[in-house]
Parts: sequence; C-alpha cells; structure tokens
Amino acid sequence: ITRSPQELIGDLNERQAMAVQYEGPALLIGAGAGSGKTRVLTRRIAWILSQFGAWPSQILAITFTNKAAAEMRERLETLIGPVAQRMWVSTFHSACVRILRRNGASIGLESGFSIYDTADAERLIKLIATDLNVDIKRYTPRSILGRISDYKNQLISWQTQLATYAADYKPGMRGYQFGRVGNVEELYAVMYAEYQHRLKLANAVDFDDLIMRTVELMQTDKDVADYYRSRFRFILVDEYQDTNHAQYVLIRELAGIDQAKAGGRPQASVTVVGDSDQSIYAFRGADISNIQDFEKDFPNARTIMLEQNYRSTQTILDAANAVISHNEGRKPKKLWTALGQGERITGYAADNAQLEAHWIAQEILRLNGEEGVPFSNIAIMYRANAQSRALEEGLIRAHVPYQLVGGTKFYERREVKDAMAYLQAIVNPADNVNMRRILNVPKRGLGPRAESLVASYAASINQPFWSGIEHVDQIPGMTTRTANPLKRFRELMLELKQFAQEHDAKPSVIVAHVLKATGMLEELQKSEDPQDASRVENLSQLQSVAAEYEQNTPDASLAGFLETTALVADSDQLPGEHEDSGKVTLMTLHTAKGLEYPVVFLTGMEQGTFPHSRAMEDASELSEERRLAYVGITRAKQHLYVTRAAVRAQWGQANEMMPSQFLDEIPDELIDWKRREAGMERMRSSWSNDDDEFGGWVEDEPQGYTFGGSTFGSAAPRTAAHDYDAQGRRSGSYGGSYGGSSYGSSSY
Ligand code: ATP
Ligand code: MG
Repeated sequence: ITRSPQELIGDLNERQAMAVQYEGPALLIGAGAGSGKTRVLTRRIAWILSQFGAWPSQILAITFTNKAAAEMRERLETLIGPVAQRMWVSTFHSACVRILRRNGASIGLESGFSIYDTADAERLIKLIATDLNVDIKRYTPRSILGRISDYKNQLISWQTQLATYAADYKPGMRGYQFGRVGNVEELYAVMYAEYQHRLKLANAVDFDDLIMRTVELMQTDKDVADYYRSRFRFILVDEYQDTNHAQYVLIRELAGIDQAKAGGRPQASVTVVGDSDQSIYAFRGADISNIQDFEKDFPNARTIMLEQNYRSTQTILDAANAVISHNEGRKPKKLWTALGQGERITGYAADNAQLEAHWIAQEILRLNGEEGVPFSNIAIMYRANAQSRALEEGLIRAHVPYQLVGGTKFYERREVKDAMAYLQAIVNPADNVNMRRILNVPKRGLGPRAESLVASYAASINQPFWSGIEHVDQIPGMTTRTANPLKRFRELMLELKQFAQEHDAKPSVIVAHVLKATGMLEELQKSEDPQDASRVENLSQLQSVAAEYEQNTPDASLAGFLETTALVADSDQLPGEHEDSGKVTLMTLHTAKGLEYPVVFLTGMEQGTFPHSRAMEDASELSEERRLAYVGITRAKQHLYVTRAAVRAQWGQANEMMPSQFLDEIPDELIDWKRREAGMERMRSSWSNDDDEFGGWVEDEPQGYTFGGSTFGSAAPRTAAHDYDAQGRRSGSYGGSYGGSSYGSSSY
C-alpha cells in the first residue's frame, strides 16, 4: 500500500504535520499528555517509508511496552501494509535480545542464553549469599539486586566497583572475609561481581544486562557496531522521558552520534517523543535530564512542541495542569482542548477502603445501567498493587466483571515457573538457577544435601551444576541412595533434550511432553489440595500459550518461545485496543502510562497512600508522585472520579487517613463532591449521619466466596464495634478477619 502525503497528514494539526515531515537529524517532540505524540510517531514512520523512501529494515522504533509495540505495528500495517511486520518495532529489551542472540558471542554470550526475571535473580543472589556467608536478613536479596540494577542502569561495571571497594576479591573465590573496607559498598561490590560471574557461568542475563551488555557489544565489537549503524538509519523512541542512562547511551551508539562527529558515516536520524511531566520511573533509573538535555546531546536537534490535547475535556485538563503546576523547576506548558468543558470531576469520600470500593462498584453499575457506558470503557487506578484487593472484593460483590493488570502474574506462578525452568534447562543446561530449581520438582528425594554436594563438586571443577550431575560417580561423599535419583534425573533431562531436538518447531508438543514425562502434572492431579487444581489449569493454559505462539510465529522454536515469554510485562495482559473485553480494568498508575479510557477512577487519594508515605518527606520523590497524579488524571477522556477512604488498613492496623494533598491542588470548582467529609472528620463535625447511605458495613454480603482458588471472607460477622469517647474519638475494634489476615484491633 502506498499512501498519499495527504492521507498521512491530512487529519493532523499544523505542528503535528510538521513533526511528521521533519527532515533534520534529530527531533524532539515534547508535549503534554494526550497531544498526539504517539500518533505522530506512528505517522512519521509511515512517512519515512513512503515519502523518504526508506526500507522497513532501516527503521528501529522503540516503545515502552510490548503491548504498545504491537499496537503501533498494527496501526502501521493499516497505514502501509504488511511490510510493517518486518520492521523492528519493539521495546528496548526485545531489541537488545535480538541483537544479543545474533551477535552476543563476541562478548561471551552464547545464543541460547537464559533471561532471568526478578525471582530467578533473587534465587541466584540467595545462593551467592549462602556461599559468602552474607546475612540476607540484614541485606535482603531485593535490596542487593536494587543496587546492582542501579549500577547497570548507570553503566557502572563490576570491575570498577571491585577495584574501588574490594580489590582483593576475585570472582569465584571462597572464604572471603568482609570488613576490609569497613562499609557496605564492599558488600555490594562483591555481590555484584559474583553475581555477574555466576550469570556468565550459567550463560544467563538479567533484564538490566540486556541493555548494558548490548552497549558493551556496540562499544567493543567494531564489526557488529558498523553493521547496526549502517542498518538503522531512522531511530524513533516513544516515552523518552523514562529512558535511563544506559538506554540513552544505547541510542547514541546505535545512531553513531560520536562516530558521525568524528567524521565517519552520517548519524542515523533520531526522533524522540516524551513529556517530562510524565516521568515516573526514577526508581528504575529513569533520568529526566535525557529529555531536558536532548538539544545539547544530539547535534542540530530541533524541538517541536504540541499544544492541543485531543483526549480529554477542559475540566480534566484544568485539573491536571493545576496539580502539575505545583512542581518546581519545570517549564510551564500550554495545553488546550477543543472538546469543551465537559462534566465536573466527581469526588467521593468513604469511611473506609471497603466502602470506597462499594461506592465505586455501585457507581459503575449506575454508569453501565443508566448511561449505557460499557464496562470496558472504565478503568480503576491505584498507587500500589495491594490496594486492588479491597477494590476487587467490592466489584465481585456487585457482580461487576473486571480484569486485573499486574498482581501475581501468570509467569510468576510457581507451577508455571517450574515448567518454564524445565524448558530453560533443556535449552541451556548451564543455567544453574533453573537446573537447581527443578532438581526436586516433582519430589524425587533430592533435598538440600544432595543439591549442595553436586553444587560444591561442580564449583570445585569450575563447571556448571549440570556437569556435577553428568559426573555423579565422581562426586566425593556420594551415597547410592542419593546417586540413584540423581542418575534418574540425568536420564530424564537427556531424554527431554532429545525429544526437544526432534520437535523443536513445536513448543506446545514439548511442553506437553515435559509436563507428562517429569511427573509434574501427575503429582498435581493426584493432590487433594484444592489449590493444586488451579495449578493444573495454569499448566494447561501454558500449553495453550505455546500453541498460540506457534500459530503467530512463522519460525517458531523452543528458544523463541522462551524469549517471548521472558519479556512479557504487566501491561501486555491488556486486550488490544479494538477488542471489547466487556470488563472494567484495574491497574496501577504506573501501568496506565500511555493509555486512555472514557471513564477513570483515581482511588485511594490519601496522604500516605497517594502520595505514597515513602515520598512525603522528600521533595524530589514528592514531585515524582505528582507526575504520577498527572499521568493518572490525563488518562481520562470524559469523566474523572477521585475517591478516598478515611480509614485504611495497613500492616494489619486501621489507620486514619487524611485527604491527599493532590485533591487540594485541584481547584475546588472543578470537583463535584458526592460526599466530602468522612470518618473522623465527619464525626468531629456537627453533621448528622442521616444522609449516610452506606454508614456501616455492607449488610447483604455473602458469607465468604471464592476467588482464584482462595476463599475470602469469613464466618465472623463483619461489623465494626465502635463507641465514641468523650473527645468524639472512635474506639473499639474492627471485628472479623478479612481474606485470612486479621485487621487487628486498633483503638484510637
Ligand atoms: P500520552 O502523553 O498520554 O502518551 P500522547 O501525546 O501520546 O499521550 P496520543 O495517545 O497519541 O497522545 O493521542 C491521544 C488521543 O488523541 C488519541 O486517541 C489520538 O488518536 C487522538 N489524536 C491525536 N491527534 C489527533 C488529531 N490530530 N485528530 C484527532 N485525534 C487525535
Ligand atoms: Mg503516548
């Protein structure tokens, strides 16, 4: 399909059209939410192909999630036809996986390398901590990994850290004594070095490595660097405000900026789009200066600002602008809309989180019933995953269909990870974390003692864990009682590998065989535990995922299947934009980035919930929370709701919550409060309670219902026993337990 210029820019405004056609080497499209940045980026790609005459292979388009990539490719297909399929439209991570699979050998990565997710990485850290006598109660795997991730996002190498803080440590060393440097940096340096060492032995990488090691590849292998620099002539990046330093350097390397400066081949054309007010990933190393310094960093760069918003009503924009204007040191932006003033924002203050959820559920039923709003047009957003539980319960009780994005993700479930670990170990036997994970799954009498015998033997010959299993008979101290199951495990793995080689194009067949041959499925099917029934369903689901992958992928393979599943992110679980799920969507504010819904509920608008308690003392973190509020508000097209609870349970304590400062930052006249005072404030004020629709706990609730295999609710009556003391303060306890954990009895 070839498109006339008019078809590509005819329905855009002047600035947008200018950005689509821009011919210079570097372009920043900076603009507020909903101004068409993503739309312009997509059109620009079509323009580059049809008007600049570029080949699809010369384009590299980077999006923030796989879902955004799929959507962009889909739109491109309607604009330019099936050639869109051959283009690299992907996340940073997927692009790097492709590059490393092809060319990683020169930096010591074999093509079948494993990609460790957070859980795998934590397992590896625990193994290392045990070997090095590090107290993981004091230094949690999570905090150690957080630090390692910071280093990687900053492109700080383990060699540098070791040289500075633990010069005597050599990776692979045993019996190292900490305390020479006398500070915690030494610990982090050693853990980082050892972690990288073990990853290398296992032929594995973690998510941050994907970027860092691709940069390393581009900087050390001139042939590979030349190949990609001559290949990608147009590089386009969405959500640029959330790139970190490593990603920034990667773009420079791929575009050949420094090489062009030095007089080599001209640089690739670089287009980035973003909004510094929507930078919300500082905790993952996102560096807002990337977008602020774009014009300095990229020679002859030009900035085009978009000012017209096509998404939201004026009311919603006014609220968003008012909130974000409280952030200091930002450039004020003009953002206007032709969509009219629209309805006022609806506010609701509930006495507690359950009643907040109840009110939202009832309001959704009303919207759906009276106003005919489809459930799929509605999204409920919250600051932290833990808040979803109360909301889900409210929706279930009201029979509102919903889908949750995030939470315990499919690929993080134990049985799914076990099955995937088998596949991973088949493809890459050097993968110690996954090999050790399945050693005793299903149970075959190989406990921690057997595992550590094999592990220390393998370490002594400097080989992966699997080599220990291959040479069972040479392991000192091995008894026949342990050797026999180890040998059976060895036979099993060899048989699975053989089978996989014969059926490589059919991951679904391999999955089915693994589930059966290992006895995993049988163990779960025999179990009396009702949880195991849902585990069986998950495994059958996994087989379906594999079959689906085969259908969608012309050159399907087991390694390819592992790759696509390794890179699945939260937001990928959303149905595509044209599908009508018939369900309300629940998600965190972070996941909502880039999306839009006609109706949005921003919930938990309380000090300590949102802004998050961690951020309230720190000016820069508070600014980040405010940007998150800005992202949330600007997801709404027609109608925004803001809700809060006066009492929320945290760590088993019922806490009194003050209204979020972000609510105060929204001009009063924009919000129509259905109920403004709640909880303590309400008690203190002289109001009567007569108008209180949901003054107590919900009466008509079922006595326990099941959800996802676990039973919520309890037989205990859920009434709040409370009295008021002389100061009008409530005392007493919230009776009953909820979802298995008691709210405890907290008195005020
Ligand atoms: P965010 O900052 O949230 O990522 P964005 O700047 O990327 O937003 P888009 O998602 O591209 O904005 O566009 C917002 C909405 O406005 C979309 O529904 C898009 O289709 C629509 N839109 C953008 N430009 C135009 C236009 N010129 N005419 C009509 N609709 C438009
Ligand atoms: Mg966008």
